[in-house]
Amino acid sequence: MAARESRIWTDIDFERDGKQTGFLRLPHSVHRSAYGWLPIPLVCLKNGSGPRLLLMAGNHGDEYEGQVALCKLIRGLEADAVRGRIIILPMANFPAAAAGRRTSPIDAGNLNRSFPGDPDGSPTAMIAHYIESVLMPLSDVLVDLHSGGSSLMYLPTAMMYRGDDPAEAARNREILEVFGAPHGLLFGRESEDRMSESAARRQGLTAVLTELGGSGTVTPAILALAERALRRVLAHFGALADRDTAPEATPTRLMEVAGADYYCHSPDDGLFEPFVELGDSVAAGQPAGAVHFPETPWREPSLATFERDGLVICKRIPGRTRRGDCLFHLASDLAVPG
Ligand code: CA
Repeated sequence: MAARESRIWTDIDFERDGKQTGFLRLPHSVHRSAYGWLPIPLVCLKNGSGPRLLLMAGNHGDEYEGQVALCKLIRGLEADAVRGRIIILPMANFPAAAAGRRTSPIDAGNLNRSFPGDPDGSPTAMIAHYIESVLMPLSDVLVDLHSGGSSLMYLPTAMMYRGDDPAEAARNREILEVFGAPHGLLFGRESEDRMSESAARRQGLTAVLTELGGSGTVTPAILALAERALRRVLAHFGALADRDTAPEATPTRLMEVAGADYYCHSPDDGLFEPFVELGDSVAAGQPAGAVHFPETPWREPSLATFERDGLVICKRIPGRTRRGDCLFHLASDLAVPG
């Protein structure tokens, strides 16, 4: 069976040199607008042949650092400063990003659980399909900028696949060091195949991912880090005409999240009192927080406990919590084999 083509179209010509700004147009026929389309902003910078990068944010619409960093990059970069092609998609799940929500208010779609998508599916599925079947084959490198969104806060972290062989492992560790976030996570083969990283793997791209911050806001220091890191990553892949425009990297602590026991979830519905902060080192068996019951305030709170040693790199932000919500997750220093 022939692959079905996307119904999304654009007047941007990905093969044309220069800086083009515009929209992916996703047909959206609704009561308010019979023949309308959703305008997904997209920029293409091309200057001859060379490296091919796809920069993306707003995969989750309530993760703002990457969206702002890409807005600033778009306005600060002209085609003559580029080598090859950079495609920039700052509001990947446009309906979600426009609403400032993780998922799309149109179809409740979580773009990062929607790959490889469906050209005849919901808007979120159509976007996933377009990214994987059109934009990724035009690219060699994906940079997908995530953060903790509304419900989580991360220590600024970049993430790469651990690598299938020593050469790939060394290349990916180098990219984490080039990115220069305080923490660099190396991950293994996950069972989850609906994420942009899995799509990038299927399409043969190198994927650079982040968890930049979160809390449903933008933090100046983390934004500045993201802006500098983007320049360095572009320079690293040879996509900037002048390599000297990329500022120096700061040291990265290489870490891993190697199992379910790195995550601490709420044992109950209630009000979350954290006992530790981001950046704390914790030990197995240490209480992580309490869940209080203000509707029955005389009831003893439930305790959440860390199952292993580690560094707290992610923390839940909202106070109200439900059983099963992620309260914290840990990372540990990378165990270097041999
Ligand atoms: Ca995310």
